[in-house]
Amino acid sequence: MTTSSAEEFHSTALTLDEKIALLDGSDFWHTESLPRLGIPPITLTDGPHGLRKQPEGGDHLGIGDSVPATCFPTAAALACSWDVDLLGRVGAALGRECRAEGVSVLLGPGVNMKRTPLCGRNFEYFAEDPLLAGHLAAALVEGVQAQGVGTSLKHFAVNNQETERMSISAEVDERTLREIYLTAFEHVVTTARPWTVMSSYNRINGVYASENRWLLTDLLRGEWGFDGLVVSDWGAVSSRDDALRAGLDLEMPTSGGLGGAVVRNAYEAGTVSEDEIDLAVQRLLRLVERTRPALREGGEYDSGEHHALAREAAAGSAVLLKNDDGILPLQGDSTVAVLGELARAPRYQGAGSSQVVPTRLDDALSALRAALPGEVPFAPGYSVDSGSSDGIAEAVEVAARADVAVLFLGLPPDAESEGFDRDHLDLPAEQLELLHAVAEVQERIVVVLAGGSVVTVDPWQQHAKALLHGWLPGQAGGTALADVLTGAVTPSGKLAETIPVRYADTPAFGNFPGEFDAVRYGEGPLIGYRWYDARGLDVSYPFGHGLSYTSFEYRDLDVRILDDGPEPSVHVEFTVANTGGRAGSEVAQLYVGDPVSAAQRPEQELKAFRKVALEPGASQRVSLELGSRAFAYWHTSMGRWVVEGGEFVLHAGASSRDIRLRTTIELTGETVRGVPTPGSELGTWLDHPVLGPRLLSALGGGGMMGELVSDPQLIKLVRAIPAERMTRFPGVPVTAEMLHEWSAEARSSPA
Ligand code: BGC
Repeated sequence: MTTSSAEEFHSTALTLDEKIALLDGSDFWHTESLPRLGIPPITLTDGPHGLRKQPEGGDHLGIGDSVPATCFPTAAALACSWDVDLLGRVGAALGRECRAEGVSVLLGPGVNMKRTPLCGRNFEYFAEDPLLAGHLAAALVEGVQAQGVGTSLKHFAVNNQETERMSISAEVDERTLREIYLTAFEHVVTTARPWTVMSSYNRINGVYASENRWLLTDLLRGEWGFDGLVVSDWGAVSSRDDALRAGLDLEMPTSGGLGGAVVRNAYEAGTVSEDEIDLAVQRLLRLVERTRPALREGGEYDSGEHHALAREAAAGSAVLLKNDDGILPLQGDSTVAVLGELARAPRYQGAGSSQVVPTRLDDALSALRAALPGEVPFAPGYSVDSGSSDGIAEAVEVAARADVAVLFLGLPPDAESEGFDRDHLDLPAEQLELLHAVAEVQERIVVVLAGGSVVTVDPWQQHAKALLHGWLPGQAGGTALADVLTGAVTPSGKLAETIPVRYADTPAFGNFPGEFDAVRYGEGPLIGYRWYDARGLDVSYPFGHGLSYTSFEYRDLDVRILDDGPEPSVHVEFTVANTGGRAGSEVAQLYVGDPVSAAQRPEQELKAFRKVALEPGASQRVSLELGSRAFAYWHTSMGRWVVEGGEFVLHAGASSRDIRLRTTIELTGETVRGVPTPGSELGTWLDHPVLGPRLLSALGGGGMMGELVSDPQLIKLVRAIPAERMTRFPGVPVTAEMLHEWSAEARSSPA
């Protein structure tokens, strides 16, 4: 039986009560079954960077236990790899683990934007840029789903903070939504086709995401062609009948019959139709059908291989921020002291619903001891749990006797989590105290950072010759960091989020976390580097930055316009060469800017990227295609994407602030001009190619108004008068009715 005939068969064979029951979970992690018709329950489980399959009756926030599973690097880490192939392989591994455990849907990935570095859940999100987040998440989704296991793209949408996450209203204008907060979702839905999407807890412009018909039906299904199931975030349903009508199919976890009773009452009152119920049931049955083959066949996985992949991924995601005097990689003949409790007791994942019980756990101290010749002395220096700095004196002594001190610093687990936001960007005081004390006796300091988002480095980084950010790198993070520190792996990660100098510089400062149940997205589309660029602000490290142990040259930029017109396409090519002495990978980034536009646009925006692996002396031609969306903005009054004709700048480089090649191109695009309404200013009317001359001729040069518009001085003042208001002036031969008529004509046949 094909999927669709199975769905039809079931929905006609089911009683109304059976249908309604299927739209509610059966417990925390399973859908309802219907043995009479052979409909099995399926299991949905977190996600996103490892499997958290709990035993029967488990909670959903990480308090209870779960089966051991590979803890891959968190999204915040993986994103810094900028490596779509790697994300695909991690996805496939996650899919294999799901199959082996009989899990049908992995609850992830999360593609919310890193709007503020204080978001406690940033570790679960990819980037401050929607193109990067979307491309990496799409690769992960494809990897998982190729194993016959579904994903749940979350949290749809605009869930960018944990403060009041279940009730806050994100107040965002449509252009910002389209260009920033919905873009990654759109990319994943339209290219990787996730089997489910999870609607978020928050409200968007006053309406709960789970009850937002525009979001869940008009946009997601109508515009983007989503053919899967929408599941609520756990406990996100407020009004079950509104949610159903909006397009939310499955409520999770079970509401214990409450949701069903509301739907039944609404059906009886005539406010929910059987067709609406059938539609949701069909989507659930389609999901069940999609998951059947993998469930039937099962599978197994090699935990050793997955651990090795987790190690490769963590090493490929670490970002070398700074490396003065080439202090890294560590030299075999020097004595290395390892300092900091986090070297021995690593922070490798975040807290909350994504918390995995790892199959094993590497720590950097053991890995460095195994990799380096000779003794590697260690002192913890501080306590992660108590925040005590009692160990500083001992650490200083150990550091003084070594050639190099490698200091492991980072955010303690209680600093960041699902459920709350951070309240500052700084490292714990006792850790900075340790750094300052060690710097008194040791010049050669390498700092290795752990944490799910950025911390301020400006106040103290002068004490560190090298700075390596490992993020929350998963269960193999310890060995992976040792690989990078010793040079077994050449670092190739690049920042997926800017490291600001101070919190007050960040884009959402002053608006985040909001007040009186709402948070205003006052910075509009200027998220992340878009903001720092627009303000000309210094940053500690820019978006896209990351060093290597080798060096790369960019040359021979070649740009060809393949298609001009309203939907242009442009081919960009350049060469990246490894000019250093080691094999390494470079992430080549392509940014586009639109310097002259009717809309305010960011100076530049990431529109394509490619990671290339190069042997020393080798070079590669990088070819990137830019479709029309690379040049377009969302035109709110036209209600669509628009490529405004004119000049565009193309920047190719090693980071958003290390542009190596630049050029400009001219695209025809379209002439973007709103049609004036009677309420528009006279200036807008006069500038319109059809309505301007028409109005002028109707004014006929006579009367006071006619004279005013022909006076070169006064015209500036006159332009600001709304056209309709002008018609009230004495002697003006144009009426409001004429303006309405002309405007309507121009709208139906735009110039
Ligand atoms: C989280 C989701 C998660 C779900 C199930 C919610 O609290 O926001 O990301 O998938 O719980 O554990």
